[in-house]
Amino acid sequence: MQLNQSQDEPRYYLFDNFSGFPGLVHGIFTRDGGTSDLNFRSLNVALSVGDDKENVYLNRNIVSRSMGIDQTHAIYLNQVHGKELLVLKEHMMPGLVNDVPNENMLKSDISKENISEQGGMVLRQHLLKKDADGIITNVKGILTVIQVADCQAVILYDPVKQVVANIHSGWRGSLLNIVGRGVDIMVEAFGSDPFHILAAIAPSLGPCCAEFKNYRDEIPEQFWKYKTGQYHFDFWQISCDQLTEKGLLLKNIEVSKICTPCTSHIFYSYRKENITGRFAVAAGLI
Ligand SMILES: [Zn+2]
Repeated sequence: MQLNQSQDEPRYYLFDNFSGFPGLVHGIFTRDGGTSDLNFRSLNVALSVGDDKENVYLNRNIVSRSMGIDQTHAIYLNQVHGKELLVLKEHMMPGLVNDVPNENMLKSDISKENISEQGGMVLRQHLLKKDADGIITNVKGILTVIQVADCQAVILYDPVKQVVANIHSGWRGSLLNIVGRGVDIMVEAFGSDPFHILAAIAPSLGPCCAEFKNYRDEIPEQFWKYKTGQYHFDFWQISCDQLTEKGLLLKNIEVSKICTPCTSHIFYSYRKENITGRFAVAAGLI
């Protein structure tokens, strides 16, 4: 992972794994370069954490602009710590993805962005109301953004079939093998060969800080082999194993190995700060 060369704000990180692929844009944003203040300083992209919504919209625009994709084509899911993943294919544009949200969801999720966006984005309006932890797509010109503060954002990219997945894998998602499910969907829905899939794991909770004092109740015994101390677990290794078990080559998996609580001056950390923002991990095909 390296800082991008541009001097423009905000600066963001790039995974080494994805360099040299002009069909993919991506960025790991920090907490710098945005408009929010206090606990949310400054590039918070999450609406649900108590930050001023106007600032969040401005921050989201900053992220989209940096990626060269219009804000109306950016997808922010309602992340739910589950294992549901959305599939978005070319022929679905501009139709619906999966089921139509029910009326209550429609009412509760109407946002300023929905109101201001223009035609052709029916699809996105439905996606915005969709609770899910990741999106897998071969549609060009859409920016998928995962919002994290300690949870893993995992990007999967198949340069042969031109498919990208952006997945939120918190510790609950890890236990449900959501990244493995993501690979399955790439294979089943897009014909990807795991041999070709490149993966990258963004800054997140490292083994130094992943303390689970109640692990006997919270973490199934099959994962206890990932204990690195009395109460500490290595969730980076869990993700690596889940990906290689699905056929990815270890050399094709990049782990940033940056622990967010240890670097909370750069990245948001829920464990360290409790009331805080979420940084953006963005990926899209162009
Ligand atoms: Zn740490």
